[in-house]
Amino acid sequence: MPRPRFKQRCAICKKNMVMMYSSRQFPICAECHMKRISDPVTEPPYKKLFDIPREFYEKSMFLRNIKEAYQRFGSLTEKQISAFKKAVKDMKNPKKEKEGEEADQGKE
Ligand SMILES: [Zn+2]
Repeated sequence: MPRPRFKQRCAICKKNMVMMYSSRQFPICAECHMKRISDPVTEPPYKKLFDIPREFYEKSMFLRNIKEAYQRFGSLTEKQISAFKKAVKDMKNPKKEKEGEEADQGKE
């Protein structure tokens, strides 16, 4: 599991500090990220997919990243969809420690 390496100021609000897991990560705080992905999703399969409690997005950068990817590209790969579902499931049934902030980038 990636661990935070350093903190950087949010590039949008220039106010909040952001935990950085890799240098490729865009420094954006949860607050600004939530604003960025707050557009309602209307396309049927995705509408259902993204219809999860708001706090899940607030807690998980991974979920925010997937939603942002959808909004940027208009669709998701099957891998992204299943990773999203798995992350949501894990948040509903926490196993051990918190896995919320896991930045799941390009593995598997
Ligand atoms: Zn911010």
